[in-house]
Amino acid sequence: MRSVIVVGAGISGLAAAWQLRDRADVTVLEGHPKVGGKLRTGTIAGITVDEGAESLMALRPEAVELAAAVGLGDALCDPAKAPTTIWTPGGLRPLPPGHVMGIPTDPAALAGAGLLSPEGIARAAAEERLPAAPLTEDCSVGHYLTARFGRETVDRLVEPLLGGVYAGRADRLSLRAAMPRIAAVAEQGGPLLPALRRIRAAGAPRSAPVAVQGVVGGTGRFPLAVAESCGARILTGTTARSLHRLRGGRWRVSAMTGDGPLTMEADGVVLAVPAYEAAQLLRPHSPAAEEELSAIPHASTAVITMAFSRSRSAFLPAGNGFLVPPVDGHLLKAASFLSNKWPWLHASAPDTFVLRASLGRIGEESLLARPDRHLIRAAIAELHRAVGPMGEPLAARVTRWDRGLPQYSVGHQARVARIREATSKLPGLAVCGAAYEGVGVAACVATARTAAHDLLTHP
Ligand SMILES: Cc1cc2nc3c(=O)[nH]c(=O)nc-3n(C[C@H](O)[C@H](O)[C@H](O)COP(=O)(O)OP(=O)(O)OC[C@H]3O[C@@H](n4cnc5c(N)ncnc54)[C@H](O)[C@@H]3O)c2cc1C
Repeated sequence: MRSVIVVGAGISGLAAAWQLRDRADVTVLEGHPKVGGKLRTGTIAGITVDEGAESLMALRPEAVELAAAVGLGDALCDPAKAPTTIWTPGGLRPLPPGHVMGIPTDPAALAGAGLLSPEGIARAAAEERLPAAPLTEDCSVGHYLTARFGRETVDRLVEPLLGGVYAGRADRLSLRAAMPRIAAVAEQGGPLLPALRRIRAAGAPRSAPVAVQGVVGGTGRFPLAVAESCGARILTGTTARSLHRLRGGRWRVSAMTGDGPLTMEADGVVLAVPAYEAAQLLRPHSPAAEEELSAIPHASTAVITMAFSRSRSAFLPAGNGFLVPPVDGHLLKAASFLSNKWPWLHASAPDTFVLRASLGRIGEESLLARPDRHLIRAAIAELHRAVGPMGEPLAARVTRWDRGLPQYSVGHQARVARIREATSKLPGLAVCGAAYEGVGVAACVATARTAAHDLLTHP
């Protein structure tokens, strides 16, 4: 494999290019004027903050390892310690410690938490007395966990976390793909609670004392550093339009740039683009891959970043932010108090309080059709109800992530296996990205490693 074209300069494509460095002559094509995809910074009131992903999973190694390898090791930082908080009708309430994706492993600790009714707490605690046959087929998170813990636990504790990570809903997301740890326990049979308690007692790996880390200056610095270190030729503003397989197994990529069409050839191609883009590019080569990739739904979301003057605000909230159960009918799905959460941000702008509110779960597209100013007004009104009278922001900006998060529907893992089977019949081509084995940055980097490895070992 002497030459490779990577399509897409999100973190997946850049990680693939980095992985291929010194092994192939790599060109990365990126349709947007900037690299980074869902990792990018922007400015609000003159302060640089993340507009997309703001943290990297640290419990698995791929993202933090790559960040260190490209020179950001010293910039990796921990968020301020604070419990995950849920906006309930009674105000903001912390999830008691010991939960796994919202599932309370110690229902007794829920008793005084003000998150569930006494009936809901009793129903959740009953899980360990319910018989459980081993899970043999994928099902929705909502279906499985409602049967085990009752609807209230799902509505008030699990849904807010699924909204935060996937912009997804419990009744649509696959247990196996969206909650693999829970599914693995369920596949053994028997109640979940004792097994989850054992897992928690075993603790996090010593190398990863925190679940997530950020980057001083913004996680949006991460793809820029990978782009600089990977040695690849990176062409931004260059959208791949079609792929052609040439005699001898090489690939030709036809792209559109600001200056007109561009055609390039290479021994291999990595498609590191969202599933619906990969589907279009693969249509002439693999109808099976096209059909499966097109069937992956996507949720659109919006991030509303706001800056408040510390001296002029009557009130500013404590904590790192909150998550919102959809059952209460609020527009917001989460809020992140960036200036509290990231000490570097507070240090760089001590007079300003920056937060971001996010909205838009799967099925809420009509909400996002509203103009920016409506979304900002609605977000401010809900923030006031949730945390108190913060007053008006100095500046507010909406960042829209149209079809930004793939949804892992029931049967997703089997779908991904069919996609991989179909693409394996196209020598010299590999796919990677958020559509496959995890939407988080670390999982994306892992798929990029595999894609690069596959190209180098099975050209
Ligand atoms: C608002 C938001 C917040 C998030 N927060 C977190 C978080 O805190 N932590 C976390 O781990 N994950 C988070 N995620 C998820 C994570 O950021 C993404 O899943 C991940 O960054 C996706 O990376 P990717 O490279 O696979 O795709 P993308 O980032 O989508 O990159 C794909 C790139 O391909 C380009 N492209 C598309 N089509 C073409 C074409 N035809 N030709 C050329 N280029 C093309 C696009 O312009 C884009 O740059 C968040 C996601 C969103 C939307």
